[in-house]
Amino acid sequence: MSTTEFNSDDHKRSVPQAMGRGAMLKCPKCGKGSLFAKYLKAADHCPSCGEAFFHHRADDAPPYFTMLLIGHLVFPGIFLVERHYQPPMWLHFSVWIPLLIVLCLALLPVVKGAIIAMQWALRMHGFETTEPVTSGTTDGEN
Ligand SMILES: [Zn+2]
Repeated sequence: MSTTEFNSDDHKRSVPQAMGRGAMLKCPKCGKGSLFAKYLKAADHCPSCGEAFFHHRADDAPPYFTMLLIGHLVFPGIFLVERHYQPPMWLHFSVWIPLLIVLCLALLPVVKGAIIAMQWALRMHGFETTEPVTSGTTDGEN
């Protein structure tokens, strides 16, 4: 396969800008269309600009990074409260477990959106082949 050229707007893809848009659950390319069709289901295409998202490979990265972030945010609080107040275990469980669940459910789509957008900005997993300009034929399509 010969070299592939891209439209001028595809030459530069800012990783921080794309990840910010993805974290806001928006399309990393245009920042307008929704990145997700459902809670954690990425849309096949951007409803605004038509950018394809179906070939992302976020896989297990979003839950991993979500647990990493939430753990570093919440567990110091748990240890500090235990050290200074020693509340009964039922109080720990009734406060911290719902907080952990709510935070994980709230942060998971944010992290997944940022990871999909990072893959888009770095042209990973099929994101590099969008909108070739000099395609004389349609070879390369499966
Ligand atoms: Zn878009």
